[in-house]
Amino acid sequence: MAIEERRETGREKLRRGWLSVAAATLLAVLALGAEINPLFVAAGWLLMFLSLLLSPSLPGEELPSPPALPVALPPRDPLGDLAAAYAALDLPVIVLGGDGHVLFQNAAAEKAFDVMQPGTHLSARLRSPGILDMVRETVATGQSNQIEHSERHPSERVFILRVAPVDLPGEAARSGPYFALTAKDISELRRIDRMRSDFVANASHELRTPLASLRGFIETLQGPAKGDMGAQERFLGIMLDQATRMSRLVDDLLSLSRLELKAHIAPSQRVDLVPLVGHVRDSLLPLAHDLGVEIRMHLPDTKVEVTGDRDELVQVIENLVENACKYGQDGKIVDVFLRQDDPAQPVELSVVDRGPGIPAEHVPRLTERFYRVSVADSRSKKGTGLGLAIVKHILTRHRARLIVKSELGKGTDFTVRF
Ligand code: ADP
Repeated sequence: MAIEERRETGREKLRRGWLSVAAATLLAVLALGAEINPLFVAAGWLLMFLSLLLSPSLPGEELPSPPALPVALPPRDPLGDLAAAYAALDLPVIVLGGDGHVLFQNAAAEKAFDVMQPGTHLSARLRSPGILDMVRETVATGQSNQIEHSERHPSERVFILRVAPVDLPGEAARSGPYFALTAKDISELRRIDRMRSDFVANASHELRTPLASLRGFIETLQGPAKGDMGAQERFLGIMLDQATRMSRLVDDLLSLSRLELKAHIAPSQRVDLVPLVGHVRDSLLPLAHDLGVEIRMHLPDTKVEVTGDRDELVQVIENLVENACKYGQDGKIVDVFLRQDDPAQPVELSVVDRGPGIPAEHVPRLTERFYRVSVADSRSKKGTGLGLAIVKHILTRHRARLIVKSELGKGTDFTVRF
């Protein structure tokens, strides 16, 4: 920075000189008149001259403020400043030099891509030619670029990698060039997209099958079976079943979408589960009777209250007990336990059957939409594959958990813990 120095201008010097001469002359005249020793006069003259000469300005003149002295600051470290700013982000950021070497990596980048030692080349970790070409192009053109990149290990993840030059201001720019490589994780978005499209495909498939069967029967009744009363009777029965299956499916789909809409609104009613379990058993008695299953209740004498939505809780218990009767039919007995050891303990509702059980590999996926251990078995039992997905949605809204324990040949225990 240029330092400004205030210098006396020529005019000011002239004015100062004239004043000195005038003062000296006046003193000499006075001294001669008063017969004072000329040595005193000379000393006074000299003092005045010196004071005028040394005074920074003339009396009455305003002093200019002293110029600011340059402060000697330590030289800035642009990379250190960049690193400090990027360290605070939870978006993975890798700072690269113009040759593609890693200069800095924030904690989020370490988590996403493991530790890359400063000085190693980016290609040591991200080998994809697409990424390296992208970086080279940005280094050459100064234009930002982005690319989609998938990682397989330790888990399947999809990132949008973007590289852009870091434009540092002023002097700092000379220490570069620097390039910031950022990685936006879009795995979750992709997963939701896939789920959505799978869901639409599954729902359409589930509806298409009974629709195709209905069309087939209508065509047969209009054509070959026209006038055949026996065939008409049989076909109309099948058609009714298919139409009922379709409306069950549509009802379940609507239930799911209603539940999704209010997923974030926690219920606020207090509901006593004891009468609810009794109500579900009464409504399922005809089905249990048809299947030859006995529903046994193990309820406490006191109230067992939870915060919840009555109708949704009925739906949960109904789905679990109905599944136990349908899939555990061979066991003949379904036990329903309701327990709460003391009011501070969680409430537990268990539905236990003595059926064939569920192979372990299927258990974690049971609550997925349209997931069935055996599609044919589910269809023959009028299942839609959505029952447990609905149960899971309701329980999530109720901050409750579903715990499934199953042993092949012994039976299955579905426990809801509130
Ligand atoms: P579905 O409408 O097919 O019954 P659910 O979502 O209610 O659909 O159940 C998903 C699958 O879980 C069923 O198709 C069945 O294979 C299995 N399942 C559910 N409950 C039981 C049970 N108590 N015992 C054995 N398998 C069961």
